[in-house]
Amino acid sequence: MPCEMAWQHVSDEDLERYYLGMVTDESELGPMEEHLLACSSCVKRAENAQDYVDLIRAAIIEGGHDLEF
Ligand SMILES: [Zn+2]
Repeated sequence: MPCEMAWQHVSDEDLERYYLGMVTDESELGPMEEHLLACSSCVKRAENAQDYVDLIRAAIIEGGHDLEF
């Protein structure tokens, strides 16, 4: 049988990296995008991650404050 893929959700951390453009490896990016096409719960979380990333970006652009997580 061909490779059996476990249905593994994309982690919040990976979603953030994805929107920060830090996921460049096709072997990681491909399955992630495929998962997002098929999984509405991850898409919801991806939207949250995107908002979060936008906030961080805006904060960095505005003031260069030290960010604490
Ligand atoms: Zn998912």
